[in-house]
Amino acid sequence: MGLAEHTSRIVSEFDFSDEELNRHVQEFLKQTDSGLREDGTSLSQIPSYVTAVPDGTEKGVYLAVDLGGTNFRVCSVSLNGDSTFNLTYTKVAIPKNLMVAKTARDLFGFLAKQIELFLREHHKEHFEGATSRRNTSSFPEGYHDEQIFRLGFTFSFPVQQLGINKGKLIRWTKGFDIPDAIGQDVCKLLQDEIDRLGLPVKVAALVNDTVGTLMARSYTSAGKHRSILGAIFGTGTNGAYIEKTSNIKKPIQGEYNTSTGEMVINTEWGSFDNQLNVLPSTAWDAALDRDSVNPGIQMYEKRVSGMFLGEIVRLAIADMIQDEDTSLFRDTNSSYNDWSTTTNISPKSGLLSQWGLDTAILSVAAADNTPELSTIRQELENTLLVYTPALEDAQAFKAVAGAVVRRAARLSAVAIGAIVLQSGKLEDPAEEIIDIGVDGSLVEHYPFFRDMIYEALRAIDGIGPSGADKIRIGIAKDGSGVGAALIALVAQKME
Ligand code: ADP
Repeated sequence: MGLAEHTSRIVSEFDFSDEELNRHVQEFLKQTDSGLREDGTSLSQIPSYVTAVPDGTEKGVYLAVDLGGTNFRVCSVSLNGDSTFNLTYTKVAIPKNLMVAKTARDLFGFLAKQIELFLREHHKEHFEGATSRRNTSSFPEGYHDEQIFRLGFTFSFPVQQLGINKGKLIRWTKGFDIPDAIGQDVCKLLQDEIDRLGLPVKVAALVNDTVGTLMARSYTSAGKHRSILGAIFGTGTNGAYIEKTSNIKKPIQGEYNTSTGEMVINTEWGSFDNQLNVLPSTAWDAALDRDSVNPGIQMYEKRVSGMFLGEIVRLAIADMIQDEDTSLFRDTNSSYNDWSTTTNISPKSGLLSQWGLDTAILSVAAADNTPELSTIRQELENTLLVYTPALEDAQAFKAVAGAVVRRAARLSAVAIGAIVLQSGKLEDPAEEIIDIGVDGSLVEHYPFFRDMIYEALRAIDGIGPSGADKIRIGIAKDGSGVGAALIALVAQKME
């Protein structure tokens, strides 16, 4: 089989027809509903306790902190009340020894100290005029309520949320291991350390980054069109949307504001289809899953998000290279002939090791439309150590990479389309625009990712071309900053 023929056979394995697309939307809607009825289903459908999204008129200064994995970000956000904001922030690396500290106090004490340093540097004026009963280097005691900063705490580890500012740590991930924190309320752990330092800060909200994305987009884009969905297509993928509380049949523990009749739900849609085998699957999807740390789990995420797309492409390309009859990456003049007499790939090439192909190169391949594909050929040489790839090699790589991402975009449209249908907004003549906020490198940087989503949305029954025209997908920047600040504001209104 020639290279072109082999390539089109591989490309066709990633086809995802309109019929399959529609079947998946129906399945997604079914799983959306199951998750609203009971715990332990494939979509977790976690209530966020956030019962309103902003409309752009919100005002005030709020703090936001973000404990992700490697860094701790502290920022203050001034909401100007006209859909704009100003943001000041600092970022510190979390010392490795604190990730595995003896007690939770060690880590949370460090976090509180960073908040103190940030306030001293950027918000000294906030305390001027307040009466201090301590020495001048301390924050004044007895400050008034309006002097107390409300803080939104983005905490990207599994928590069981029990209220807008209450959530118990289920387990640590990403290299953290502080056993005595498990089962404790992470907001209280932070508040206790803030209080020990006497800072005028109240931990007002525990924030999921997807919920933050929805809030940030709703504030900045809004005008009269509130956003209905915030979605992330970055390392992972997830979405949070507005649901009617009457549709949430499972019990919601803890208190929340019932007046709006709505609540933001964190779908955890990365796990759509766990163990159900609905999703399209190739031999390379199966191999990726089998060799992952969590086989059978996050099956949707493994076909959609940045962490995995490069690896699917790598596995498919690696199979093509193994095929003796294919001429992919073969060059008898190769300087890497010590690895193999037949390929021009360095033994150190990322093509040959698990996770060795970063999804970013897929964007380079898609963006290169030069006749000689010179950009991607250079990139293959620079980042994947393929020595002087031929035009045909680059064409094959570009085609396989494009097919994998196209399937990912069409699968993304499954979740987006299903939630648009779930919202019922298409039937509402008052809704001219259905706004959706997205964030993440894949959707931001991969050329035409959004266009491929739109193309698929037009093919979904119940949406069609006229429905797709109403849907506006826009980038939501900085959900963990401005989004967290907005959730702190919503929480303050509930106090
Ligand atoms: P996170 O989701 O961790 O906050 P990002 O949104 O930046 O961070 O997503 C990082 C993921 O996006 C990584 O898996 C990376 O491989 C992928 N990525 C980075 N740059 C690009 C790009 N230009 N095109 C496509 N994917 C990219």
